[in-house]
Formats: sequence, structure tokens, C-alpha cells
Amino acid sequence: MSAYAVGFARPDRWSGSQPNQQTYPWHAVEAHRSPAELDGEVELAVCGAIVQVWGTQKWERVGIGRTGCPECARITAVDQRLTRAS
Ligand SMILES: [Zn+2]
Repeated sequence: MSAYAVGFARPDRWSGSQPNQQTYPWHAVEAHRSPAELDGEVELAVCGAIVQVWGTQKWERVGIGRTGCPECARITAVDQRLTRAS
């Protein structure tokens, strides 16, 4: 079961002490309900970041992109989808 909603870490909520994180604004949030229902909710991402759920995004898409949080991608094992063919 790999149902993940996508959370967006808003730059305006940051204190400025972690500038590196701005490169990866998208995080995975474990979805106990459908991502659409969680839209707009403030949740804890799987990597521990506080994010706001962006219900229209799919983690399967942004998790493998350049702006997806690498830690979240590792935890949710998105990478395995890419190598499953072997
Ligand atoms: Zn993350």
C-alpha cells in the first residue's frame, strides 16, 4: 500500500536557517484518506517536515522529480518503481 499525498513546505513558514530545503519544497505525507480530502491540511511529512497538503499533486510524479524531497523519496521507496522492471 503506497498511498501518499503531497505536501508543500511553504518558504514563508521557514525561519531562514535551512536554506537548502528550499530546493525541495515537495514532501510525501502518508494519506489515511484520499489526498483530495486532505487538501489544504497541515500535516507531518514522512521525513518530519511540516507541510501543507497539495491534494492535486501526485507523489508518484513529484517524488521522482528534482523538486521532490530526497528523504521522502527514499522513505516512500519511489525509486523502486523505476527499477521494478529488472
Ligand atoms: Zn520530506
